[in-house]
This record gives sequence, structure tokens and C-alpha cells, in this order.
Amino acid sequence: MTFSVAIIGRPNVGKSTLFNRLAGRKLALVDDTPGVTRDRRPGEARLVDLKFGIIDTAGLEESGPDTLEGRMRAQTEAAIDEADLSLFLIDAKMGLTPADETLATILRKRGKPVVLVANKAEARGSEASLLDAFRLGLGEPCPISAEHGEGMLDLRDAIVAAIGEELALPIEDEEAETDVAVSDEGEDAGDDYDESKPLRVAIVGRPNAGKSTLINRFLGEERLLTGPEAGITRDSISVEWEWRGRRIKMFDTAGLRRKARVQEKIEKLSVADALRAIRFAEVVVIVLDADVPYEKQDLQIADLVIREGRAPVIVFNKWDRIEDRQQVLADLREKTERLLPQVRGIRAVPVSGLTGTGLDKMMQGVVDTHRVWNRRIPTAKLNRWLESMQVQHPPPAVSGRRIRLKYMTQIKARPPGFVISCSRPEALPASYTRYLTNGLREDFDLPGVPVRVSYRKGD
Ligand code: GDP
Ligand code: GDP
Repeated sequence: MTFSVAIIGRPNVGKSTLFNRLAGRKLALVDDTPGVTRDRRPGEARLVDLKFGIIDTAGLEESGPDTLEGRMRAQTEAAIDEADLSLFLIDAKMGLTPADETLATILRKRGKPVVLVANKAEARGSEASLLDAFRLGLGEPCPISAEHGEGMLDLRDAIVAAIGEELALPIEDEEAETDVAVSDEGEDAGDDYDESKPLRVAIVGRPNAGKSTLINRFLGEERLLTGPEAGITRDSISVEWEWRGRRIKMFDTAGLRRKARVQEKIEKLSVADALRAIRFAEVVVIVLDADVPYEKQDLQIADLVIREGRAPVIVFNKWDRIEDRQQVLADLREKTERLLPQVRGIRAVPVSGLTGTGLDKMMQGVVDTHRVWNRRIPTAKLNRWLESMQVQHPPPAVSGRRIRLKYMTQIKARPPGFVISCSRPEALPASYTRYLTNGLREDFDLPGVPVRVSYRKGD
């Protein structure tokens, strides 16, 4: 059984855009390979690994009463009643309006599962709306860009959280474990960190970096440990197995490539492939050829991974070919820190897909980075910290008035994102944001993942 979803929101928030992305042909995340979507019926939506029915509210809108408010209300009520879950869209670029509040009230009264979605979140200045949106009383807003396809993985997770795994992931039901792992990693460990869910990993890199060799070696080793094919399950987009008791779901780049090679040009595919893999994954392993590391294309791929907010791990592959290993490793790590300052402290592991060395360390890096990526820091701690950072190094005075940073909260994890209310955000120099970002990394142990700090105006 699958579930059904309604997209609710006032006009112009981006409902149709999201609808098209979820239900449309060219837009679905994992299956826009020709041939896969062709048989999709209208109203059938896919999001990463979720499949659900989607209610087209466009029709409902026509039939309602004549005022805007009346139409919205009729549309909303009909759709909520029909659906198992509502996605309530607001426009983060524009901010909240009274119409949003009216709809929020209707949704709260109905008491059915709702995911609050802040669309157009790629727009500058949208962070303020995210903080504002909490007051709708519908929980944490999930920032997305329907137009650019950003935030789809978070949306997927929010949907699963709202509706429950049983309904959202019916296929995995049989193998679901009954004793859900409880994390006891100390008070700062991500409070929504759930070890019972498979950790989604993708391996990307430019052609010939050694991705296929690495993946095959990997599954080969696992097979040796667990017997032929035992413990490994494969579907069209991923392979799943356990590494030290942790379920790992790896995006099967090779499988995809095999399938698509027939129809598409290879060079076009490698980019699309990488993007699809990145969007599927939580942790992305970036494979470099240790012999020719950090070519332009390597940096472009790394940049893409970081911009998409994924947890990155670097591997220096073909390590068997390197002679002066200590020296080369030191050089490569120094280069990594210099070229990728946005993810200072990133795990960088030498491996050989050919011989199998380093694979265990790589997986340890994947699991560690994933945990950091999920980390949540309590607001009280953040505010004490913000105070002490300002004492140590006060923000500058601009045209005679000192800029003040008042209040700070972590607005999201995966990756960690923070909002600070600031008397004059526009006047705060970028160097101060770097000071804060680096401080956060050090003081709250957030190495190697993107950390985002933004501001909202407030005094
Ligand atoms: P609807 O009335 O709620 O169905 O909204 P539409 O889907 O028609 O979108 C309204 C406008 O917002 C259109 O001009 C879209 O191109 C634009 N839009 C939709 N999603 C996004 C987004 O993620 N970012 C930005 N900047 N604009 C968007
Ligand atoms: P992909 O295009 O990234 O999937 O790269 P492949 O896995 O097809 O590897 C490209 C070439 O590099 C092949 O000739 C592999 O044999 C070679 N190769 C891959 N991994 C290693 C390695 O760890 N050591 C050495 N010496 N060669 C490797």
C-alpha cells in the first residue's frame, strides 16, 4: 500500500512547480533515465526511494467558492481530507502572509500529518522566513527549492518522519528491525540520529578515478565475509549490506551506467550520474586518482557535493602506485585543506580499489562524517558560546555603531545550519562569519562537513 500526499499553500508559493517535480516526467530524482518513467500515471509521484500518490489540487481550486479565501479554504479542506499527508508550502523568499496563517490554522485543526515546507529557500534572505515559520505551530520548516530541486532529500526524510516508516516504506517493512538502536553518544549527539535506517552513500569521481573498481572490490570483500551474495540486496538504484552492524545503502553508479549506456552519450552521462548519485546520498565519497589529484574536474565535483550540503569523504585511490607514501599523503592532506576550506577537517583516506587497502578506514570515515553531519547543538549552549565569542573578539563598529549579535539557534542539521539575529547583518564583514564558522567547527566538533551560518535582522 502506498500513501497519498496533498500540496497545500496560497497561490504562487510554488505548488505546481513542486507537483511537476514530484510527479512530472523529466523531474523525478532517481528515475529520469529514459524508459523508466514512461509508464508513470499522472498523480503518481516519486521522491528518492519513496513512491506515493499525489493529489492534483489544481482541479479542486476551480470548483470552490469565488473569493480567494473561500477557494483556498475549499481546496485545502478537500485535499487534506483526501490525503494521508499534507505538504504545506510557504514562500521563504517572500515571507509569511496572513493567508499562510489562515491555512496553518486549518491544517492544525484537522490534526493530520503535515510537513511544513519552506520553498524558494535558495533565494537570498530566505533564512529569516525559516525562523519565522516556527510560529505557525507546525514544527520545523523543511527548506527546499522546488525550482532547482534542492532539499529533496530532507523533504524525503521529513515525509518519512511525519507519516511513519511503515506507511512510507512498505517494501522494507518485512526486514525492519524490532529493536531500534538507541544512540547514547552523549548529550550533544544528534537527537534525531537513527542508526536503524540505512546510511545512504554514493561514490563519485571523474572518469577513470577508479569508482567501479572500488565498488566491486567492496562488494567482493563483503561477499567473502558473508558468503556468495548473502546479506547483499540489490535494486535498480542501490545495493545494501551491513558494515560492522551498520546498514549501508550504496548508490549503484555502475548499474545505472550499464542501463543507460545503450541510450545516452557517455560524457553527458557522467555529470548526470554524479548529480543523481549526490542527490541520493547522505555521505558522498569523492574518489581522486592519487597519481593525478585535484584536477579541475575533481574540484568541480567536490564543489557540487558541498553545495548540495552532503557529507563528503575524500579517498586518494590507486595508492598501490604511490612510492613515497608518507610524504605524498602529507602533501595531499595539506592541499585538501587549502583547496576545500569550506569543509575544514574533511576525512581524506588513502585507498586502493585494486588491492583493497584502506576500505575499512574509508567506511569509518563515512560513518563518522555522517554522525557529525547529523549533529544538533542545544540552543542554550549556542547562546553561551556566541556571547563568549563576542567577548573574545567583538564584532566591528560600523559608522560609529557596534554591530550586535543577539541570539543564535541551530535551524537544521544535515548539514548543520545556524541562524543568528543581528542588528545589522548587511554591515557584518565576511571575516566575522568565517571567525564564527571556524569557531563552531572547533568548539562543537564539526569537522569536515559544510557548516552554514546566516543572519536575520533583529535587535
Ligand atoms: P503555485 O501558484 O503555488 O502553483 O505556484 P507556481 O508553482 O506556479 O510558482 C509560482 C512562481 O514561483 C513561479 O514563477 C515559479 O517559477 C516560482 N517558483 C516556484 N518554485 C520556486 C523556487 O524554488 N524558487 C524560486 N525562486 N521561485 C520558485
Ligand atoms: P571509473 O571510471 O572511475 O569507474 O574507473 P575504473 O574503476 O573503471 O578504473 C579506471 C582504471 O584505473 C582501470 O584501468 C583500473 O584498473 C584502474 N584502477 C582502478 N583502481 C585502481 C587502483 O586502486 N590501483 C591501480 N593501480 N589501478 C586502479
